[in-house]
Amino acid sequence: MIKVTNNMSRAILLCAALLAMIGVTAAGKTPTVSVAVPATADATHQRIAQVFASQLHQRCGLRVEGGSGGDIVVELVLGSGGAPDGYSISDRKGGGTLITGNNHRGLLYGVGKFLRSSTYEDGGGNATFVPGTWRGSSAPVQPHRAVYWWTHIGPRWRNSELENIRLDVEEMGLWGVNVIAGCFPVQGGYGKIPGYRGFDDPKLAGLLARMETMLKTARALGLRTCLFVVPNSAYSGAPADIRATPHQNQCGGNHGVLVCPSTPQGEAYLLKQWEGVLKHFQVIGIDELVFFPYDEGGCGCERCRPWGGNGFLKISRAIQRMADTLYPDVEIALSTWCFDKDPKAPNETEKLAEALDKDHRWVDYIMPDYRVPGYFPQKMIDHGVPGNLPAINFAEISMKWHGWNNEKRGLSPNPAKVAEMWALTKDHYQGGIIPYCEHIYTDADMVMLAQLSWAPDRPVDDVLQEYTRFEFSATHSSDVIEAIRRNEAGHTDQAARILKSVEPKLTTFQRDAWRWRSLMCRVTGASAKSINYGVEPPRNRIGLARANHREQGAAADADKPRR
Ligand SMILES: [Zn+2]
Repeated sequence: MIKVTNNMSRAILLCAALLAMIGVTAAGKTPTVSVAVPATADATHQRIAQVFASQLHQRCGLRVEGGSGGDIVVELVLGSGGAPDGYSISDRKGGGTLITGNNHRGLLYGVGKFLRSSTYEDGGGNATFVPGTWRGSSAPVQPHRAVYWWTHIGPRWRNSELENIRLDVEEMGLWGVNVIAGCFPVQGGYGKIPGYRGFDDPKLAGLLARMETMLKTARALGLRTCLFVVPNSAYSGAPADIRATPHQNQCGGNHGVLVCPSTPQGEAYLLKQWEGVLKHFQVIGIDELVFFPYDEGGCGCERCRPWGGNGFLKISRAIQRMADTLYPDVEIALSTWCFDKDPKAPNETEKLAEALDKDHRWVDYIMPDYRVPGYFPQKMIDHGVPGNLPAINFAEISMKWHGWNNEKRGLSPNPAKVAEMWALTKDHYQGGIIPYCEHIYTDADMVMLAQLSWAPDRPVDDVLQEYTRFEFSATHSSDVIEAIRRNEAGHTDQAARILKSVEPKLTTFQRDAWRWRSLMCRVTGASAKSINYGVEPPRNRIGLARANHREQGAAADADKPRR
């Protein structure tokens, strides 16, 4: 008798668990979800709760309530102590899930982990929410788990709806990214790339609005903000008599309008220009500056040569001093992109090391040139990183360098390439990673790199599995991974066949998601341009977002790229 009762109660429990799994309560209605935060929660804390609600709404249509009255309760709290940016996920007293962040970012990352351990489907193509059961703690290893977007030129930054940019930042944050970086558009123009007359050029307004949305969103979530600065680039209005002498760097282009900083007039002009830029963002806040020597950039005059170890350092240092008064805690990274490629200046690395041996207190990181054999300069393997500073990997994953194969511009998961690069570089780049992302087709690769930077010894396949479960489908993730592998190996037709067989089994939300559509573009050869440029409706597939799209459409079109 007792045995039967136990079996019966076990059966009832199992039945209840199953009903909860398929998102239906015993009464037959869809369960409600609520997110609880303490009464003392500050704006960042509340913003993170909104991100949770927004993600659930996007992924299965659920509307999340505030408080602890839902059938499923998720509570978000800040703990004291613990490793910076870490989190823990545990059972909540009274039922549900408790997510504890060691700081605000940790809370955001914990929400990301919980969202990824949850599922949004019932296995039969219907949308539902099944809360994740992963429990434990985690904290990142490397200090930079950043993303760099091509803000000063990329069409996304002249066309995208602000809502899409907000989502880009939030979703990167959920994956453990802690620094959001872009390049400030001091750009004289070349080819089809628009130039700007000055800081007050009306053409700049749309692009600035998008950069501001990017940086404000990052700040509102507790993420760090970073600006790349090409210190001697200038607007098209820069006087002719202070322009730079052309250099012969064979790698970097000399695309912009460049000023020589080695005359008092040139230096004064550049400092005034950068003061305007830095002051513009004071209301938002900048945490890091990266000084970049080339593509744009450089001066070949005798006073500046060798640029990377001489003129570049002098003007970067002068801008750093000015930035220090506006942003007292700002961190500085120096890039060595395209160093030693000018036959008249083959010793830029040595000169930089010499200068930093004398004084490296104003620099926090070096960002070595990545487009070299092994992704790390031989000179720095032989003689160490200049200034003995930690190196950050500015990983160029957008173009075909080192065989990255993204030219079709659809979503391009490259797990084998990521694994190969990571094995070669993880011990060299102790400062972490800032992948170079022209558009958003690099999404999966960015995520893999951010997660490897979080846990450097984690297998790439493990991250790919987490990504495909979350972004595509938990039920069909192994098929999607197989398609991704075959595509990367060049068997695109096979990949397309697999994905086409999976597509009808997805929920509407999964099928309409931009990542899925971009992946399909990748394997079918269709253009993913409108997705990458962010001119489609925001990724939120719900009617509300489409209404936003209609309202914002006119503003988004205000600053089209030149053709
Ligand atoms: Zn010069």
